[in-house]
Amino acid sequence: MLDASRRWRGAERSIGLVPTMGALHAGHLSLVEAARAENDVVVVSVFVNPLQFGPGEDLDRYPRDWDRDLRALTEAEVDAVYRPSTEAMYPPGATTRVRVAEVSEPLEGVARPVHFEGVATVVTKLLTAVEPDRAYFGQKDAQQVAVVKRLVRDLDIGVDVRVVPTVRETDGLALSSRNAYLSPTERKAATALSAALREAAAAYASGEREPSRLEAVLRRRLDAEPLVEVEYAELVDPATFRKPGTLAVVAARVGKTRLIDNHDVAIPFPGDSSGVS
Ligand code: AMP
Repeated sequence: MLDASRRWRGAERSIGLVPTMGALHAGHLSLVEAARAENDVVVVSVFVNPLQFGPGEDLDRYPRDWDRDLRALTEAEVDAVYRPSTEAMYPPGATTRVRVAEVSEPLEGVARPVHFEGVATVVTKLLTAVEPDRAYFGQKDAQQVAVVKRLVRDLDIGVDVRVVPTVRETDGLALSSRNAYLSPTERKAATALSAALREAAAAYASGEREPSRLEAVLRRRLDAEPLVEVEYAELVDPATFRKPGTLAVVAARVGKTRLIDNHDVAIPFPGDSSGVS
């Protein structure tokens, strides 16, 4: 696979890389579509990266369905799939880690202390292996986008980081491989995350600019759902993940499942044409 991608580079064809952990859904496929539109060659990596899971997280039960993923990738006509084994990615003695200071520290960094070091390490390895012209990431994982952009800038990696809008179910729930963990009642309750973002965007569109009041709008909507336990609901700057900013970011447990979502409140929520509720 790697030899193939390097040969393509030799032929001066542009390469788009879409890093994933598999269990592919329409969100992943929209990244593939974006890559297809902008590159001659599309490479998708499928690797459940143990480094980005903390102790007690869901590494062991993370959904894996290679046959289904391969069918989806074949149908999407990707040119190559890079699916390394854990041993190939991290052979014994591989002790190097990439740590992106500051932007990886608040919010997800507090909730998941080893997460972004794992992400930054595997993304650096994937970019080095595939040498893409462009790499595609979902806005769904907004802090990951900020971490990857900083990493690419700081390490002078010549790749264009492209960000693709969040794909949502019709009721607003952001697609996620972890949605598969939700029971039917939890699935219903999980719409509170996108509903909270929608309400905060509507409040902003109505003229509310006070971050604490916009955060209160988020919390009120999340707290109204008994099955939802909020971890954070804040407005931050999308590049630094510090205040002030207009990116509303939320994390909550719905039952045992941890979900995240985000939306820039200065932009109408998808489906809200006026932005006013
Ligand atoms: P994952 O397999 O969860 O690591 O996700 C792989 C990539 O797909 C990441 O860049 C995610 O941000 C992106 N992604 C996940 N869910 C969505 C979604 N609902 N819409 C758009 N991109 C997504």
